[in-house]
Amino acid sequence: MKYNRCGKSGLLLPQISLGLWHNFGSVDSFENAVSIVKSAFDKGITHFDLANNYGPVPGSAETNFGKILQHNFQGNLRDEIVITTKAGYKMWEGPYGEWGSRKYLLSSLDQSLKRMNLDYVDIFYSHRFDPDTPLEETMMALDYAVRSGKALYAGISNYNPEQTREATEILKRLGTPCLIHQVKYSMFVRNAEEGLLDVLEEKGIGCIAFSPLAQGLLTDKYLKGIPENSRAFNPNGHLQLEEVSEEKVIKIIALNDIAKDRNQSLAQMALAWLLKDNRITSVLIGASSVAQLNNNIDSLQNLDFSQEELEKIETILK
Ligand code: NDP
Repeated sequence: MKYNRCGKSGLLLPQISLGLWHNFGSVDSFENAVSIVKSAFDKGITHFDLANNYGPVPGSAETNFGKILQHNFQGNLRDEIVITTKAGYKMWEGPYGEWGSRKYLLSSLDQSLKRMNLDYVDIFYSHRFDPDTPLEETMMALDYAVRSGKALYAGISNYNPEQTREATEILKRLGTPCLIHQVKYSMFVRNAEEGLLDVLEEKGIGCIAFSPLAQGLLTDKYLKGIPENSRAFNPNGHLQLEEVSEEKVIKIIALNDIAKDRNQSLAQMALAWLLKDNRITSVLIGASSVAQLNNNIDSLQNLDFSQEELEKIETILK
């Protein structure tokens, strides 16, 4: 594994990080979850990403991860890993269970720590911008999370370039720099290229790309229809059947041919394509099996693209 500096901070993150959004909830196989986390760490993946609502049921990914830590990461191993959580989306009933108020964010962080049986997380994120709460309040809650020792760093996710700029400036004034932005970015979802990456570079903030495989579309999974063991087929999966459209599949087939010429799987090429940009600190993958995880890690063996390959890819993605 190679480790990249997260923006202009002191923190290094692995080029590939593991997210626990799917496959780690109470509806999933716990044994499989344990194997994936252990294999990831053995291969140098030191960063595990969670959020209050990951499951299903919401919260159960954190509970399961807490159990995995307790049995497999005893002693000083906690100091060898970076654990993150977030609050922003709906987590409980009533007016204090979502968005960006201080009331919600700090209660949620306490709940997450309890579920994972941790004293602190490494990064606490505001999961989404709240148009109705003053940004100062949301940022002051992140600053407080860090000052109280419940988080070591503050991050934001799903903020647009202007919101990012403003949030960063408030955090800087408060004395808790914005460490990282978690953004949806893949060959199929490229809004980050429209200003956000420039703001992050200018401000010295790290960038971690989530759903880098477009939830599995950028793999060989959907080349021949929709298999039963796929996120699109799974009723708990967030990939909608309509997203596996004919138009997408034509692109996936063409991209897969380029990957083959590079002696890579499509998943490997999709990850390498993101990591070629040095503004990307890490790609935050999901995996439903150890085999997928290993396949994805092998992307690091070839991160270089010829100009011709890049042009061919652009033509397909247009
Ligand atoms: P990916 O785009 O990496 O999709 C992962 C899924 O793709 C896997 O669960 C699996 O699905 C399939 N897959 C992965 N590798 C392979 C492979 N080599 N071959 C074939 N299929 C493969 O990421 P996710 O969408 O899971 O998101 C990753 C993380 O990002 C989340 O866990 C979370 O931590 C974070 N995230 C953050 C968000 C935010 O708002 N900040 C929102 C969403 C995610 P299958 O079940 O079909 O096998």
